[in-house]
Amino acid sequence: MKTTVKKEIRVRIAPSPTGSAHIGTARTALFNYLFAKKNKGKFVLRIEDTDKERSEQKWTDEILTELRWLGIKWDEGPDIGGKFSPYKQTQRMDIYKKYLEKLLSEKKSYYCFCSEEELESKRQDQLTRGVAPKYDGKCRNLSEKEIQKKISSKEKAVIRFKVADKKIRFLDLIRGMVEFNAGLLGDVVIAKDLGTPLYHFAVVVDDFEMQISHIIRGEEHLSNTPRQILLQEALGFYQPVYAHLPLMLNMDKSKMSKRQGDVAISDYHKNGYLPEALINFMALLGWNPGTEKEIFSLAKLVKEFSIEKVQKAGAIFNVQRLDFINGFYIREKPIEKLTELCIPYLKEAGLLIAGQISENKLEKIIEVSKTRMKKLFDIVELSGFFFVDKVAYDKNLLKWDDMKDGDIKDALLLCDKTLSELKDWEIKKIEWALMGVAGEFNRQKGYPEKNRGFLLWPMRVALSGKQFSPSPFEISDILGREKTLKRIRGAVEKL
Ligand code: GLU
Repeated sequence: MKTTVKKEIRVRIAPSPTGSAHIGTARTALFNYLFAKKNKGKFVLRIEDTDKERSEQKWTDEILTELRWLGIKWDEGPDIGGKFSPYKQTQRMDIYKKYLEKLLSEKKSYYCFCSEEELESKRQDQLTRGVAPKYDGKCRNLSEKEIQKKISSKEKAVIRFKVADKKIRFLDLIRGMVEFNAGLLGDVVIAKDLGTPLYHFAVVVDDFEMQISHIIRGEEHLSNTPRQILLQEALGFYQPVYAHLPLMLNMDKSKMSKRQGDVAISDYHKNGYLPEALINFMALLGWNPGTEKEIFSLAKLVKEFSIEKVQKAGAIFNVQRLDFINGFYIREKPIEKLTELCIPYLKEAGLLIAGQISENKLEKIIEVSKTRMKKLFDIVELSGFFFVDKVAYDKNLLKWDDMKDGDIKDALLLCDKTLSELKDWEIKKIEWALMGVAGEFNRQKGYPEKNRGFLLWPMRVALSGKQFSPSPFEISDILGREKTLKRIRGAVEKL
């Protein structure tokens, strides 16, 4: 059968709601979305919940919520309907039944009564003989009489599809010509009964019924494709165009798994990755524009994306790259917006108590912290010291370079004196005043004159309790005179 290039481009994602929405689903959704938008086509979201035991509504809800958060919009789906409604497989059972009956009546599939134990023992036997396990076709040619007898005596059965012993070739948009020997597969179970179709069958029926033109999905499905093509042939369906996206790999090139890091979209969401950053990052998981350019908005991706530029080799999920891209988008945000995004994290950490701090001050805190932020959650660690009464730190941190203990104390006392005498508490004035005495301090102590660390490092640590933080001027400005002096004096007492 020839691949039919449908006039209208229609693509889909078909996640199974059996667990947290996976980051791989998000990437597949993105590539489908981009392909649809680029080609003025439609992007369909279909929920594959035929596995009734493992599927749960809460996972369906999560898939929808997280894709919406990412800004990947579908044109048809379970929530908004569409011309091929419904978009949930459990609501489409009549459709599958019709096609299952068709295959049975045309003898392209058959009832199989082999018990699990029997199948397992045959499998073990094949393995010990060193042959690849496959169904031996025992029930393939039962007579109509035998079948009816077994059914009426309520023998347990499944429906198997007769997989032809032939070569399947198809042109994959990413992988080029792919060839499989279907004869190795053995007859596949396509339904438990007429009311319980399984994945391979339901997916083929739905892709046909929903007139999907291109199937863009992860490489882990590549080996499913020959079976699905054979089912299409048996049912007299057209063959969609396939494109299998490269696997997503950990840094050590192993398959991405929960054990090595976050795999749920919601994990990235909760930790404060921005949707535009994740979109940008995910687009580069397998696609590249052929230039050094790394920053792409969704709109730009729609313009520049092309499926032909997707690579075959596995795509490494490099969290450092994600952090870099996320940091870029964080710094791009208008400060009011970024503050709004940080507030829930500060509240959750118990740092931000309503009415305790002015909006203006909060924005200043975010402004001076944002250069170090990789994700929104980092704001807690980076700015916590602004919100607490007392900062805790090891007094050794107060020491800059090879400073003597007595000098640390003198530096702090000098900062205290200089700032106590300051009339207006403004950042520039704080800076000028301290810079004005730093040179003289170094001269007196015999330190290199230009190295301001001897005066400013102890003060900065006294204010933040941290090795890295915004400048002492920025912190003093935000803390205000009273708190600043109190923290400097607290440090003096420590020594
Ligand atoms: N339900 C399948 C999954 O979640 C979708 C397979 C496909 O895209 O054909 O992996």
